[in-house]
Amino acid sequence: MTETPLKLFNSLTREIETFTTVHPGEARVYTCGPTVYNYPHIGNMRAYVFADVLGRTLSWKGYDLTHIINITDVGHLTDDADEGEDKMEKMAAERAQSIWDIAKHYTEAYWADVKALNIRQPAKWSVATHYIDEMIEFAKGIADKHCYELESGLYFDVSTIQDYGKLARAVTEEGEGRIDTVEGKRNAADFAIWRKTPEGEKRQMEWDSPWGKGAPGWHLECSVMGGKLLGFPFDIHTGGIDHREIHHPNEIAQNQAHCCTNGLDVAENSGARIWMHNNFLVERSGKMSKSAGEFLRLQLLIDKGYHPLAYRMMCLQAHYRSELEFSWDGLGAALTRLKRIVMQAERLKDTPAGDPSHQKFASMREKFATAIADDLNTSVGLVALEEALAVKKVDAGVKRAVIEDMDRVLGLDLFDLSRKDLRIRPKTAEITEAEIEAELIRRKEAKVEKDFATSDAIRETLAAKGVEVMDGDPLGWEWKLG
Ligand code: AMP
Ligand code: ZN
Repeated sequence: MTETPLKLFNSLTREIETFTTVHPGEARVYTCGPTVYNYPHIGNMRAYVFADVLGRTLSWKGYDLTHIINITDVGHLTDDADEGEDKMEKMAAERAQSIWDIAKHYTEAYWADVKALNIRQPAKWSVATHYIDEMIEFAKGIADKHCYELESGLYFDVSTIQDYGKLARAVTEEGEGRIDTVEGKRNAADFAIWRKTPEGEKRQMEWDSPWGKGAPGWHLECSVMGGKLLGFPFDIHTGGIDHREIHHPNEIAQNQAHCCTNGLDVAENSGARIWMHNNFLVERSGKMSKSAGEFLRLQLLIDKGYHPLAYRMMCLQAHYRSELEFSWDGLGAALTRLKRIVMQAERLKDTPAGDPSHQKFASMREKFATAIADDLNTSVGLVALEEALAVKKVDAGVKRAVIEDMDRVLGLDLFDLSRKDLRIRPKTAEITEAEIEAELIRRKEAKVEKDFATSDAIRETLAAKGVEVMDGDPLGWEWKLG
């Protein structure tokens, strides 16, 4: 099989580019992580499924991967620009809890989702508040030439660097809506590097700095941790598409100032060679908004009985750069597809993996490799996997090896899942699985004895408890909880 070079879409140039590494054989990736003031919604988790597929692809292609994901526990305001309150401070005040407890609780909740979605652990979860000294040093280094002080803090003057905002291109409506009006700012797009604690106030999180007691601006942390942990320039920086408008242009501006590199005609002057952004998961009724009371958390999907990997499957079915609309029907369809794949994979489970390079699979492996190398086209990759599963009259070990190899990129955990794991199991079910199975055994015995009255009665009792008995189901399911 020919090795297909990896091509990725660079948001900075808006072009598909052939991936080459800064350091031979190594791939260094930084992903903007969650702000841990609340549970992540499933849209947030799409950003990490995407970053995970990218990381897995780089490992699969043989690069030595260093992946950093940060945890934002300070600085992110309720507005992405400089107005509003710190999200962490606000939640802590509402709950009358310490910020540190809030951060701990929601970091752990995020990690639980990461695990449930089979997202690999990065080399490091870098926590913003562990890098305050480095942030102050970084800010000191750029303050004279690029910043000015106002009563509310230290601000970055975006007119001091070339090509400010190139990543965002035109000021979009979204971007424009977010430009805020801190009095005294030289340019509307100038942003806080350091936010001073107002006179007479005390914040839970504040540190001494040359600009007074206060807290870092949100964008600073990613410049500092990316540069410190991966070295400038590193290979790839990722985030959701909203970050293309404010957070990443500001990070880039800081990196340019710090590295004394000017124009962005050369991508690595931005701090990273390639900037990648996943598009949004959308939901029409507004259940994605964390301010809307009950919102779409992974746990809600699980409580309704869906295996979390059905959501991963849903993400993989779409290209990461396309908007993806969430619906329960769509999730159900993704689950059914995953079930079919797992049923076929289950037949290969007891056979040790053989050598995947068998002629019968060459075209599917080629199709898979080409699709993934084409800016991570997982939806075509999934088709190639299904085609490989459907190949007949072939050694099971060879087939297993082919599927395992593809699953290293897709991360569906195919050989650890069983069909039973994927059964819909709502939390509200009034009957346990063991009870259902016992009833179904009784029903089978009744049928053998031609006691159809009893067998029908059992069916109806089960139906009353929300269990649908599925005689003759093509996927071999005997029952389903509604
Ligand atoms: P936050 O915790 O708000 O900083 O967001 C975490 C990540 O989720 C960021 O990379 C965001 O860009 C991304 N994100 C936010 N909303 C969505 C969405 N609806 N779909 C996909 N990604 C999102
Ligand atoms: Zn960031």
